[in-house]
Amino acid sequence: MITRDQQAEIDAARAATAQTRRATVPALEAMLFQATPVLDHGFVRVIDYMGDDAAIVQAARVSYGRGTRKVSEDAGLIRYLMRHRHSTPFEMAEIKYHVKLPIFVARQWIRHRTANVNEYSARYSILDREFYIPSPEHLAAQSDSNRQGRGDLLTGDAAAEVLDILRSDAMRTYDNYAHMLNEAPDGAPLDPARQGLARELARMNLTLNTYTQWYWKCDLHNLLHFLSLRTDAHAQYEIRAYADAMLATVEAWVPQTFAAFKDFRLGAVTFSAGMLAVLKRMLAGEAVDQKASGLSKREWGEMMAALGREG
Ligand SMILES: Cc1cc2nc3c(=O)[nH]c(=O)nc-3n(C[C@H](O)[C@H](O)[C@H](O)COP(=O)(O)OP(=O)(O)OC[C@H]3O[C@@H](n4cnc5c(N)ncnc54)[C@H](O)[C@@H]3O)c2cc1C
Repeated sequence: MITRDQQAEIDAARAATAQTRRATVPALEAMLFQATPVLDHGFVRVIDYMGDDAAIVQAARVSYGRGTRKVSEDAGLIRYLMRHRHSTPFEMAEIKYHVKLPIFVARQWIRHRTANVNEYSARYSILDREFYIPSPEHLAAQSDSNRQGRGDLLTGDAAAEVLDILRSDAMRTYDNYAHMLNEAPDGAPLDPARQGLARELARMNLTLNTYTQWYWKCDLHNLLHFLSLRTDAHAQYEIRAYADAMLATVEAWVPQTFAAFKDFRLGAVTFSAGMLAVLKRMLAGEAVDQKASGLSKREWGEMMAALGREG
């Protein structure tokens, strides 16, 4: 994951301080630069940030200073903005992460188009010999009911065989990558009698569980959108693991916004007009079933699950 040299660079960055008139957040300063491990070789670390809860309030009020209102009034305004989807004040705060992640997770992540991204160049540099191998509690079979989901855990021989295939294929393709490159760490040819293939071509043979890295910068509004999709139970476990680590940084950075986000997004559900009509009938004492509801079986099931009732 993080090498000794890399940790020394992180420690040096954490030891340096600078005076500023800009808002800083002690809880996030405490996390700054430090890598939070994710999956087997990955991490997320906060590199920089701009703004805090007060900056969101300031932007909403277009005020000249930090203001004299009470914390509870600011929290109330943030809750109002979140509830009514007044999103632009949340765009005034930004955060920058350094992420190390498997390529197949990066392919899902990059679909979020509102961030600024700079990825490690495998045309310029050689990728690390690191692959994601799921831990046994995440080695699941294909779900029967959900084509995008996982079913029961694989165990015993079936699990051992899959782990062996994942490991050996990744190692074999990496060994072939290294062979085609024909490069020692200092750039000299390993075998002087042979010419190495260009890095930009040799990488195409690698498996999707090979780790890549990027710097990823996003404003708070779009970050919350990313987190609402990728912390959700429907998201694949591997990207959810990163989203959960980032959620902890948001809690430290903007606690009032985080609380409102938890209340009005993460913990909230949306009912269609049809569902709301059904709910009103149920509250009036009517015994509504799926057939009488006018909802499809799937919508009915989702509504009952949201209400914590049997379908
Ligand atoms: C559980 C899950 C399963 C998924 N399955 C698949 C799949 O099978 N196949 C697949 O291809 N994708 C899949 N996706 C990806 C998904 O369709 C979105 O591409 C991804 O979640 C990014 O969402 P977004 O566009 O809202 O986010 P962002 O790109 O971050 O955009 C944020 C918001 O900005 C606006 N926006 C950004 N760019 C534009 C634009 N060019 N035009 C108009 N509005 C814009 C939109 O309002 C958008 O919601 C899946 C995602 C999830 C969470």
